[in-house]
Amino acid sequence: DGDRMPSPEEPQYIRDLRTDRPHPARVYDYLLGGKNNYAADRAAAEAGKRANPNSLIPPRENRAFLRRAVHYLAAQEGIDQFLDVGTGLPTSPNVHEVAQAANPAARVVYVDNDPIVLTHARALLVGTPEGRTKYIEADLRDPEAILNAPELQATLDLTRPVGLLLIAIMHFVPDEAGPLDIAERLLSALPSGSFLALSHLTGDFDPKAWEGVAAIYRKSGVIMQVRTKPEVERFFDGLELVDPGVQSLPRWRPEAPAVGTAGAVTDAEVSVYGGVGRKR
Ligand code: SAH
Repeated sequence: DGDRMPSPEEPQYIRDLRTDRPHPARVYDYLLGGKNNYAADRAAAEAGKRANPNSLIPPRENRAFLRRAVHYLAAQEGIDQFLDVGTGLPTSPNVHEVAQAANPAARVVYVDNDPIVLTHARALLVGTPEGRTKYIEADLRDPEAILNAPELQATLDLTRPVGLLLIAIMHFVPDEAGPLDIAERLLSALPSGSFLALSHLTGDFDPKAWEGVAAIYRKSGVIMQVRTKPEVERFFDGLELVDPGVQSLPRWRPEAPAVGTAGAVTDAEVSVYGGVGRKR
């Protein structure tokens, strides 16, 4: 198992995993009940839970938003190609499963910078026979490397609309790294009629709890910056926001709750905004 410091005898790819430090993808996997995480990730997640006892709710609500947003784009807007940056570890249903359920020919390019996600890429690469999925190991902070990757060029037709997914990733890009500029550079490569779907942690509803969580992550080397609603809305500047705009996730095109399901969650418990915008 991975609960030990990487030793120098281990192969490079194991050492690259840096299991001695928490990584966002693995902390998130732990919060979602997954098995692809290590002691450092679990410690960070548990410390986060002490600062904010509801830290299981944001990942769950975020996956539900991801599902609704991708289904909306594929089923209602006819989007059949997706660029998902910050994929995370495979969590069913993955983007290609949602998109290909609506349109079996849909194509997805996945991008992440955590080497452990790469080791699971095979699970992400199993699409429908008509559709296609590809995985690129790259960093969001170098958007041109993503756009120019041969795997992207071979999989997506950038003369046709693309659904760009920046789901729960931009809060790992601090202001100094120019998150708005990064999103803009990705969008500028996509034609009119493309969409941006984005979700983002916020401290608006429970500032103290999220200050605490951010501080804990920072201490273990993970930079996390929550943003206000106006700050999140800026990612959609120049885009046409799809109804109902940027909202606390459960308010973004909710599905009718199943009969007998437990009560609704509060905005403070969720603390994630999401929205979808169309490029004119
Ligand atoms: N989009 C998925 C996973 C979110 S977790 C979901 O919403 O369920 C955030 C993911 O972003 C992690 O997998 C992490 O490895 C990745 N990530 C963080 N910073 C990144 C960067 N600069 N470049 C690429 N991926 C990054």
